[in-house]
Amino acid sequence: TTEKQTLGFQTEVTQLLQLMIHSLYSNKEIFLRELISNASDAADKLRFEGINNAALYEEDSELKITVGFDKTARTITIADNGIGMSREEAIAHLGTIAKSGTKDFFSQLSGDQQKDAALIGQFGVGFYSGFIVADRITVDTRRAGLPASEGVRWESEGAGDFTVEAIDKPQRGTTITLHLRADQDEFLSDWKLKSIIRKYSDHISLPIQMQKEEWDEEKKESVVTTDVETINQASALWARNRNEITPEQYVEFYKHVSHDFEAPLTYTHNRVEGRSEYTQLLYIPARAPFDLWDRNKRGGIKLYVKRVFIMDDAEQLMPVYLRFTKGVIDSNDLPLNVSRELLQESRDVKVIREGSTKRVLSMLEELANNDEQAEKDKYVTFWNEFGQVLKEGIGEDATNKDRIAKLLRFSSTQTDDSAQTVSFADYIGRMKEGQDKIYYATGESFIAAKNSPHLEIFRKKGVEVLLMTDRVDEWMLSFLTEFDGKELTSVAKGGLDLGKLEDEAEKKQHEETEVQYHDLVAKMKTALSDKAKDVRVTFRLTDSPACLVVDENELSGNLMRMLKAAGQ
Ligand code: ADP
Ligand code: MG
Repeated sequence: TTEKQTLGFQTEVTQLLQLMIHSLYSNKEIFLRELISNASDAADKLRFEGINNAALYEEDSELKITVGFDKTARTITIADNGIGMSREEAIAHLGTIAKSGTKDFFSQLSGDQQKDAALIGQFGVGFYSGFIVADRITVDTRRAGLPASEGVRWESEGAGDFTVEAIDKPQRGTTITLHLRADQDEFLSDWKLKSIIRKYSDHISLPIQMQKEEWDEEKKESVVTTDVETINQASALWARNRNEITPEQYVEFYKHVSHDFEAPLTYTHNRVEGRSEYTQLLYIPARAPFDLWDRNKRGGIKLYVKRVFIMDDAEQLMPVYLRFTKGVIDSNDLPLNVSRELLQESRDVKVIREGSTKRVLSMLEELANNDEQAEKDKYVTFWNEFGQVLKEGIGEDATNKDRIAKLLRFSSTQTDDSAQTVSFADYIGRMKEGQDKIYYATGESFIAAKNSPHLEIFRKKGVEVLLMTDRVDEWMLSFLTEFDGKELTSVAKGGLDLGKLEDEAEKKQHEETEVQYHDLVAKMKTALSDKAKDVRVTFRLTDSPACLVVDENELSGNLMRMLKAAGQ
C-alpha cells in the first residue's frame, strides 16, 4: 500500500509512553543517547548484512550519524545511513514492544513515580523516549536495498496511534525529527547538544557529526556553516587502550550494549593474545533483568569480528550460568561470515568461552574478597540478584566447580537471618572442635528450614547449620558433596553421625536409652508398618517428640515435594 494508514499502538506502548514522560522527565536528555544508540545499531546491522551483500551500501559506505537542529521550526533531527526500515518493520518496531518480560514489567508497576522510573530504566526506554521532549515525532526511513520509492514516513504524537505513508527517500537509512514540546527550547543549542553527545555517546564507534557554528562578527551571533565536525572519538571503545577510557565512558558504553539504564556493578576489559586473539569487555549488571528465568533467552554478549558487528546474544560465548553477563567480544580469528551453527563447533569459540568464563569468575572473586566495604557491598548486591543463577554453575561447569563453590553464600543458623551471607570458608572457620562435616538443612522456605526439628541437636551443641531454601539448592547439592575435604551432610538424612561431637558419656547414655525403649519401638514399627520403613530412637531432638528422616541414599523430603509439585 502507498496511501496513508492510521494504526493504533499496542496497549503496552501507550502505557509505557505515559509513564515515561512522567517518570523520566528529570532525566529527559537521555532521549538523544537512545536515538543515537539506535542509529549505531542500525549501522552495525548494515555492516553485518553488507558482508554478503555489498550492494546494500549503494555507493555510500561511510556510515555516520548526523545530528542537527532548526531554531525556527523548533526541531531536532538525528539521521543515519544504516540499515533503515521497511514499512512492515517500521510498523512492527515502532508500534509494539517485542521484548520478553513485557508482561512481568507491567505487572510490577506501582504508580509510585520514583520506583517506576527505576523499573522503566531497567526495562529499557529506547525510541519512545523521544516523546519526553517532543509532542510529535516524524521518522523517514528506507531499508537498504529497496528502491527510493519505498521510503516510509512514520509519524505520531505519542498518544494512541501513529500514521505510515509511502515517501520517496533517495538516501538509505533513517531520519528522525523531533518536534519539540513548547518548553524544551534548551535543546535548540549547538553547545547543549554537543555536551549531551559527549557525555553519553562518545563511545559510539561511528562518527556523530554536527554542522559547525561560527561567530559572525557583523550579526553578533553564531551562525551555522556548511562545514561539519565530528563530536565523538568515533572509534570502537573496546579497541581503545584501557588508560584512555574514563569510568564514565565505560558506564555509558554498558548502557548502550545492554539497553540498561543503570550503571553496571563492575566490568573487565582485556586484550587476549596467544593461541586465540580477542578483546573482551564484560560487565556485571546491578540488577537482574525481567527475563532472567526465561529458558529461551539468549546471552547478553555481542560478537564482533575485527570490529564488524556479527550478532547479538551470542550464547556460545558464555556458559548458561553466566547469562547475566553483558558486553562485547571482538575476535581476530573468526571468519566474518560465521553463523550460529558454526559458532557451536568452532575451536576458537571454545577458547574464548573458557577465557571469558575465567574472567567473569575473577571479576566476582575480586568483589567478594575485596577489603573495601563498597566492593564487598557490590558482591552482596550481585549475590541477591544473580546468586541463584550462579549456583547452576556447580552442576554445569565441572572445571570451575571449586571456584564457584567459594563464591556461594548461604543463610545459616549462625545469624538465623534469611539474608544469604555465609560462605563455606566462614562456616569452616567456625566449626567446632571435632567437627569434620559441613551440615546443612534444606526446606521449602527459610522459615520452614529454620524451624526444622532436625536442627534441635545442632542448636543445643552450638553447631552451625547452613539453611538452603532456594529452588536450585537440592539440584546443586547433588553435584556438590564436599568442600575443602569436608563432606556436605544433610541434617535430615539417615543415622546422623555426629562423630567426635558426641562424648563418651553421651554414647553410653544413648545405648542404655535404646535398650530401654526397645519394646515401644517394636510396637510402633508394627503400627506404622505400611507408612514407615523403620522406627528408631533418636538423640537429635531436644524439644520435639519425633521427626521424619530419609535414608542416606534416598531423595530428601524437600526434593520429593518439589518433584511432586512438578508432576513427576
Ligand atoms: P531497542 O533498541 O532496545 O531494540 P528501541 O525502542 O530503541 O529498542 O528501538 C526499537 C526498534 O526500532 C529497534 O530494535 C529497531 O529495530 C528499530 N529502530 C529504531 N531506530 C532505528 C534506526 N535508526 N534505524 C533502524 N531501525 C531502528
Ligand atoms: Mg534502542
